[in-house]
Formats: sequence, C-alpha cells, structure tokens
Amino acid sequence: MNVTVCISIGIVFLLWIFGNLYRRWKNRNKVIYVIESKCAGCRRCVQRCSHHVLETVEDETGIHAAVKYPGKCAACGNCLVKCKFNALKLVERS
Ligand code: SF4
Ligand code: SF4
Repeated sequence: MNVTVCISIGIVFLLWIFGNLYRRWKNRNKVIYVIESKCAGCRRCVQRCSHHVLETVEDETGIHAAVKYPGKCAACGNCLVKCKFNALKLVERS
C-alpha cells in the first residue's frame, strides 16, 4: 500500500469521525419521535438502536414503535435511515 492510498484512507476516516461529531453536536438538544400513524411495527429501528431507546408496543391502533427511554437517545439518526415508512423524526427535547 503506497503513501497516497494511506493518506487518502486517513482523510476519509477523519472526515467520517468529524461528520459524526458534527451531527451529534447539531442534534444535541433533539430526541427521536415516532409518527405512529406511519409506523408498520417492523422493528428495524428497534434492532438498529444500540442505545436501546426504542421498543415496539401493541395497543388499540396495532403494533408500533415507541420511545421507551428518551433520556438515552443520542439523536444519532441511525434508526431514521432504517425506517422505510418515514415514521421517525428528530424533534426538539421538551
Ligand atoms: S436517534 Fe440514535 S440513539 Fe436515538 S433512538 Fe435513534 S438510533 Fe437510538
Ligand atoms: S422502522 Fe419505522 S416502521 Fe419499522 S418499527 Fe421503526 S418506526 Fe415503525
């Protein structure tokens, strides 16, 4: 592996790190919110969240995701990209 390739990989890695840090800083006062009417209860977001913020619940409207531990949400957005139904969004913490 030559020097140019190593430098390029290093730059990409640093950009990835800084991108993640910037995203966390920008969303520091936000928390995940479930739009229940759009949620299909597929659990893709639940499985993706490494902070264990989300869970699925069943009520009179059916099975849907719910924000069980909002205090643990890092507003990373990882669950957002997994939802095919556009049922998640980041909102300001109240
Ligand atoms: S935004 Fe991140 S921490 Fe919050 S629920 Fe989604 S995956 Fe979990
Ligand atoms: S990924 Fe979307 S549709 Fe699936 S449970 Fe989560 S919020 Fe609901």
